[in-house]
Amino acid sequence: MDLVLATRNRGKVDEMRPMLANIGFNLINQTDTDIPSPVEDGTTFVENALIKARAVAAATGLPCIADDSGLVVSALNGAPGIFSARYAGEGASDADNNARLLRELEAHDDRSAYFFCCMVLLKADDDPTPLIATGKWRGEILTAPQGQGGFGYDPLFWLPDLLQSAAELPKVQKNTISHRGQACAQLLSSLNAHG
Ligand code: IMP
Repeated sequence: MDLVLATRNRGKVDEMRPMLANIGFNLINQTDTDIPSPVEDGTTFVENALIKARAVAAATGLPCIADDSGLVVSALNGAPGIFSARYAGEGASDADNNARLLRELEAHDDRSAYFFCCMVLLKADDDPTPLIATGKWRGEILTAPQGQGGFGYDPLFWLPDLLQSAAELPKVQKNTISHRGQACAQLLSSLNAHG
């Protein structure tokens, strides 16, 4: 049976496909369809993940997985949070968002932050029992980008235990320890336990 990855973010698709390779569904990318993304007007990651999955499930009639994720920075009272993709404005590039983050943190010594991911699986748009999983990945914000891999804020996300930025980690290692990797593992285990 087909299942749609309800995201238009290529970076997420590249990470989620291998994580979900053994899920037992044929994965379809929303990025390969003309289904538009809905307005994300929730106030939490879980609401926005459900909004995305529900919209794509309604448009396709298929089960869907969606991820809503972002960077939560302590010194910025949790910003950019659910606005991570559009921190520097609607349609902002990763470079624009990273530049704004560096500007906002200029006057702060506390550079602690975490990535948060909420991943949901809806069997249909009216599924009353979505599977919901979360993951949290702690690190620190660098003062300049470092590394070429990953996407989004990865070049600014320093991992003190590994002495690397998220953009320097091999893909497989990022997928094992990241917020998205954690949420995905939890989602798969709920799926195996509850179907
Ligand atoms: P969403 O598509 O509304 O969930 O926005 C997610 C945004 O959060 C992305 O555009 C990135 O800016 C940021 N983000 C989420 N996960 C990651 C990650 O693994 N690395 C870097 N940035 C991330």
